[in-house]
Amino acid sequence: MKVLLGCIADDFTGATDVASFLVASGMRTVQLIGIPTEQVDLSEADAVVIALKSRTLPKEEAIQQSIAALEWLKQYDCEQYYFKYCSTFDSTEAGNIGPVTDALLDNLDEDFTVLCPSLPVNGRTVYKGYLFVNNTLLNESGMQNHPLTPMKDANLQRVMKSQSQGEVGLVTYEDVAAGANNIKTALESLSQTCRYAVLDTLSNHDLVEIGRACADLKLLTGGSGLSIGLAKNFQDKGLFKISSNSDQLSQVQGDAVVLSGSCSLMTQAQVKNFKQSNPSKKISPISLLNKTDSIDSFIEWFAANREQGPVMFYATDSAENIKAIQDELGVDRASQIVEEFMASLVTALSNVGVTKFVVAGGETSGSVVQALQPQLLKIGASIAPGVPLTEIPGENPKLLALKSGNFGDETFFEKALRMMQ
Ligand code: ADP
Repeated sequence: MKVLLGCIADDFTGATDVASFLVASGMRTVQLIGIPTEQVDLSEADAVVIALKSRTLPKEEAIQQSIAALEWLKQYDCEQYYFKYCSTFDSTEAGNIGPVTDALLDNLDEDFTVLCPSLPVNGRTVYKGYLFVNNTLLNESGMQNHPLTPMKDANLQRVMKSQSQGEVGLVTYEDVAAGANNIKTALESLSQTCRYAVLDTLSNHDLVEIGRACADLKLLTGGSGLSIGLAKNFQDKGLFKISSNSDQLSQVQGDAVVLSGSCSLMTQAQVKNFKQSNPSKKISPISLLNKTDSIDSFIEWFAANREQGPVMFYATDSAENIKAIQDELGVDRASQIVEEFMASLVTALSNVGVTKFVVAGGETSGSVVQALQPQLLKIGASIAPGVPLTEIPGENPKLLALKSGNFGDETFFEKALRMMQ
């Protein structure tokens, strides 16, 4: 069995992001949560994305996991492989973008690839080899203060050189703007002296041309944007037909709920908006610790309110209130209590027939997905940029919308629920 594109993503929401772009370009796509230990039926997938959590691991572990993912994907004889990282090139001084790219190239017996983090639709562009976030240099965009992967240099050639084994060339904007054939010639020329090529990119059109120029590279590396032109390459090679319903998920019966553990400003607005017309119950880590609240009391409340639903359970709170809770319980303990409760609540709700979950929060989504233990997620239509509807397939399928922090507008919950009907 052959899969056309095998992706390895260095974090969970990044995996969903690239999967959503692939679906939008007409490829039927599944997302795997980590490397499966068993055989998976991929007969209906054109692309597979393996979600790792390797971005900030020690580099040896990141390499080991990425190579294990590649070896697993190789069973499906992928036409191309794709290492997906963040559009802000999130990495530590040690990597892991450089070391993982090197290991993947070596494993595939290849000696050249592209580095293309650009995602112009979200304001990430590259010019003269420098990465910009909304027209500001990466190292002045706030990313220089990231707690785990501070990005203190916007020059991608320098950053890559410092964490990898080879020379880093640049395909300039003049060559990119001249289209796919020109880009291909520039890449061929660079491959004589370099192991990687950064590509200037200012628009979606550029990404499509770059994608076309990369049709014959075995390994691609980049953000999610580089994926948008790839479906067309596979179609041109006669390997598949772009599907107009690649985002088709099952019709799922059963109740829907909203679970919100994000405290971002946008999520606060979404919670406030949804509360006005739907029964809602607050999750308080202090009440959970005091045992004033419990899973049983939440399920009782759900039974009494489900008819008026969809209902919402939310831990979301203002920065001021969160600070007070964290001062009392400690930061890690407070979020651990909330996340563990979310995980137990999801399990309990699914036991009483809830089949559709709209979840707000990156870490919160991680806890929910872990609790539901899916082997894979089928990726459906986009609810908001970077947030697709997803399905846990099987005899009793479930639908999930997993939204990190600031994604979506104020009516995101309503929109996600409508798309789940
Ligand atoms: P985002 O995507 O907005 O960063 P996350 O789910 O990743 O959201 O992170 C939010 C964190 O805040 C989670 O660990 C969650 O458990 C924690 N949290 C949510 N509500 C509360 C609360 N009321 N008190 C303390 N911690 C909370």
